[in-house]
Amino acid sequence: MENIDDKYFETKCVHSGIKEYEYGPVVPPIYQTSTFKFKSAGHGAALFAGEEKGYIYTRMGNPTVEAMEDSVAELEGGHKALGCGSGMAAVHTVFATLTQTGDHVVCSHAVYGPTTTLLNSVMKRYGVQTTFVDASNIDEVRDAVTSKTRVIYIETPGNPTLAISDIEAIAAIAHKNEASLVVDNTFMSPALQKPFEFGADIILHSMTKFLNGHADVIGGVIVVKDEETYREFRKTLNQLGGVIDPFNSFLVHRGIKTLALRMERHCESASIIAEYLVSHPAVEKVMFPGLPSHPQFELAKKQQKGPGGLISFELKGGCRAGQNMMNSIKLFQLAVSLGGVESLIQHPASMTHASMGKEVRTAAGITDGLVRLSIGIENVKDLMLDLEQGLEKVDKVRDVVVN
Ligand SMILES: *Cc1c(COP(=O)(O)O)cnc(C)c1O
Repeated sequence: MENIDDKYFETKCVHSGIKEYEYGPVVPPIYQTSTFKFKSAGHGAALFAGEEKGYIYTRMGNPTVEAMEDSVAELEGGHKALGCGSGMAAVHTVFATLTQTGDHVVCSHAVYGPTTTLLNSVMKRYGVQTTFVDASNIDEVRDAVTSKTRVIYIETPGNPTLAISDIEAIAAIAHKNEASLVVDNTFMSPALQKPFEFGADIILHSMTKFLNGHADVIGGVIVVKDEETYREFRKTLNQLGGVIDPFNSFLVHRGIKTLALRMERHCESASIIAEYLVSHPAVEKVMFPGLPSHPQFELAKKQQKGPGGLISFELKGGCRAGQNMMNSIKLFQLAVSLGGVESLIQHPASMTHASMGKEVRTAAGITDGLVRLSIGIENVKDLMLDLEQGLEKVDKVRDVVVN
């Protein structure tokens, strides 16, 4: 018999983070308040001194926010989590906590575009230098590390090429150099990948994507493994101020209840669509971790419980073909973002990764003809019919127009 306290993931999605509240609600109330009354002057002083547990001011902690944070921490197998106002607020808080002037970061090429931009602008101005590497190549990661490297930062599968990095091998490199391995786990969610099990030190998410799953919230989260690290991060977050509010926390916590179910459908439908695209004459190449043709297919099987809901593919007709397709598609929404119940289509070179510049994009393998799909939970037959009619209109003349 298994331990009754050791719940399965689906069960945790439904119950994690929820506590007892006044009047016995089964979901956490939205504590839409900026501040909390102290019972006495002594009580206020004790709360500020950290001698008593309780709430002071919503930037520093709020029961609705904490319920969501505890849920994510439990799903990731971490100690505690810190809710942030966006995924980028989480990324910034991580670098602001772990680095200072003179430090060095090793970052994967294949990360969210604005993460690259943050490292190349704000963090660079603060005197933190970054080396970008192909993190799916362990030797490149190892060679980039210097005595000043404090952080190795990866996203796996990477964005938008879906290249996979070996979390366990990179964690070993980081720890040998007393650096922290930070994993942006947005593309997988804890339903499909648990970076702590492979030695990661910090996990972050854009909760805007799969965790919330309904395209109606901007939010981020950082998950840590021990109390000391938590306090460091909480101090920085309190100072930077990039916190999430109670209402958005409530929505994310609600979204998480169906995370396991949604991820199952995302994986199943994306697998069917990836196979379909491979066989389509207008398609040059399909990048999807569930295909045996994916260069790290075996590694994906080792560290992921499923292929995920994202597919990138290249059309034989290049950029023009991609634009024609995006303009003729009907059910897929032409929009950036990902991980929601609705299917989306976008063009990284002119959209999400435009700010990186062509040179950086090319190094990261983001070609002008690359199209990215986020597969939603609609009936897969409707999605296939839509892709079919969109691909019929593709003009196969190669025409690169992106700068
Ligand atoms: C969207 C995204 C982010 C940034 O999150 P926001 O909520 O938009 O600030 C970071 N990492 C990945 C992988 C993302 O997809």
